[in-house]
Amino acid sequence: MSARLSGRVALISGAASGMGASHARAFVAEGASVVIGDIADEAGAKLAAELGDAAVFTHLDVTRGADWDLAVATAVERFGKLDVLVNNAGILDAGPIGTYTEKQWQHTLSINLTGPFLGLTAARDALVSARPSSVVNISSAAGIQGVPGVHAYTASKFGLRGLTKSAALELAPHGVRVNSVHPGGILTPMLGAPEGTTLDRGANTLKRLGLPEEVTSLVVYLASTESSYCNGAEYVVDGGMTAGRA
Ligand code: NAP
Repeated sequence: MSARLSGRVALISGAASGMGASHARAFVAEGASVVIGDIADEAGAKLAAELGDAAVFTHLDVTRGADWDLAVATAVERFGKLDVLVNNAGILDAGPIGTYTEKQWQHTLSINLTGPFLGLTAARDALVSARPSSVVNISSAAGIQGVPGVHAYTASKFGLRGLTKSAALELAPHGVRVNSVHPGGILTPMLGAPEGTTLDRGANTLKRLGLPEEVTSLVVYLASTESSYCNGAEYVVDGGMTAGRA
C-alpha cells in the first residue's frame, strides 16, 4: 500500500510542539514534505533536523503576514508546491468576564483566528496552483460548545469554524477543500501535560484525555485525497465530550 500523503507538500503552523509536532512526524512518515512553522525556533529546528530532508523549519508568527509569505515561499522553493495547509497554532488564555482584559482578548483572537485568516490569504494562490489541495483548520470542542471562563478562546474557535465554511464555499471551485477539526482535551504542553495537567480527565464518554496521535490520524485523513468528498465540515475528535449529557 502506498503512503497516504505521498508527494504532498504541507505547511503546518505551531508544528514545533504538541499536536503540530505529531502531525509533522506523521505527515513525513506518510510520504509528505513538511514546512514546520512556529515561533519556537529551537524546538522547530530540532524537529526539522530529526525529520531529515523531508522537513524544513521556518520562523512563523501567525499574526504576521510577512512570516506567512515567507513560509509559503519556503514550501514552493524547497519542495516545488504547497497543497496542504494546517492552521494548527493556537493559544489558551482564560479568565472570567470582568477581569479578562481587552488586550488578552485581542491577543488570543490575533493568534487563533486572525492567524488562520492570514495563512489562508498567503497560501491561497499556491494552494489553487497545486490543486487538489486541502486546508485543515484546528478549532476545538470549544468551537462546538461554550466553556465558562474561556471566552476569547471559545469565540476564536467558533470563529475559525465559521471561516472554514466561508472559505470552503469560496475555494471549492478552485480545487481547495477546507475543513475544521475539533479536539477535546488532548495531552499536550498546552494543558501542562502529561504530569502537570489538572484538566478533568473524565469529562467525556471515554473518561480520559486524548493523545496527539489520535487527532493526527484524522488530520492525515483530511489532508489526503482519501477525504476527497469532505468539504466545509467539522470533525469532532473529543472522546464524546460534546455528544451530550449522560
Ligand atoms: P501546544 O502544545 O501549546 O503547541 C502550540 C504551538 O504553537 C507551540 O509550539 C507554540 O509555541 C506555537 N505558537 C504559539 N503562538 C504562536 C504564534 N503566534 N505563531 C506561531 N506559533 C505559535 O498546543 P497544542 O495543544 O498542540 O494545540 C494545537 C492546536 O490544537 C491549537 O490550535 C489548540 O487551540 C488546539 N486544541 C488543543 C487542545 C488541547 O487539549 N491540547 C484541544 C482542542 C484544540 P510556544 O510553545 O513557544 O508558545
